[in-house]
Amino acid sequence: MGLLLLLHVLLVAVVARAPATEAWGKEGHYMTCKIAENFLTEEASTAVKDLLPGWAGGDLAETCSWADTQRFRYKWSSPLHFADSEGGCKFDYARDCHNRQGETNMCVVGAINNYTAALKDSSSPCEQQSHHSFLDPSRSSLTRCTANQPTTTLLSAVDPTESLMFLAHFVGDVHQPLHCGNADDLGGNTIIVHWYRRKSNLHHVWDVNVIETAMKDFYNNDMGTMIKAIQLNITEEWSNEEKQWETCRTRTKTCADKYADESAKLACKAYEGVEQDSTLEDDYFFSALPVVQKRIAQGGVRLAAILNKIFSGNRRLQSS
Ligand SMILES: [Zn+2]
Repeated sequence: MGLLLLLHVLLVAVVARAPATEAWGKEGHYMTCKIAENFLTEEASTAVKDLLPGWAGGDLAETCSWADTQRFRYKWSSPLHFADSEGGCKFDYARDCHNRQGETNMCVVGAINNYTAALKDSSSPCEQQSHHSFLDPSRSSLTRCTANQPTTTLLSAVDPTESLMFLAHFVGDVHQPLHCGNADDLGGNTIIVHWYRRKSNLHHVWDVNVIETAMKDFYNNDMGTMIKAIQLNITEEWSNEEKQWETCRTRTKTCADKYADESAKLACKAYEGVEQDSTLEDDYFFSALPVVQKRIAQGGVRLAAILNKIFSGNRRLQSS
């Protein structure tokens, strides 16, 4: 009896300490990456496959939740999953992109820019390399080119496989509106709601519940069917917009700040009419689902665009 009680106490303690969700659920990330695969150039697809770890079986989508499993191993990576803002339905990089200690660039937008730069560096000919700061101070590194050596790595280089897996995950995250929600309520994590009859929180509703309910009600619990439906929307309903989603005119960074700003605006709507202990049902579901599907589509298309840009015209990666 004593042991059972102890086990119960331990279990309650573990559950109580479980960290707030910090990502689309597995499904959201998987779908984002599956959609991205359809938009990769052959060259980028080959380069991506070369970088994937063996356990991925050659499938990028299999790795797209990896970053969530690393939040304890790489504690510094925890704030990189989101960019909560101080309000105003707006994401402001200078104001909002920092961790709790106030270090700048430590948010999902900074992470996307830095991992894009890291992947470019690891896949570019030496003379095109740029020096940039990496996110993890303990692993910070500079790469240096010398006349006859392709690359000399000072300190430890950022592992390109990990860079790819972080990048693919974070491009998904920045498209989840509540990842750019209010800092006050941790992106909706502290707003306890009922999703139909089940207890949840607003962040989790957007990460997981809307997708789960859609899968059950419309897609026979089959993710492949839901992915196909989103893919079909891209080529039909959203075909006029799709090119604009990809457009990113900056040469030095990604357009992740723009994606975060879009999410901040959508988050504002997601908060409307929701209070502590609200019950969210059909009305909320039917207004949230189209947003979730479109954000997954945009995340996929843009992830592919970023990877295509990184790996286009890249011979070195393929020959190494
Ligand atoms: Zn995440």
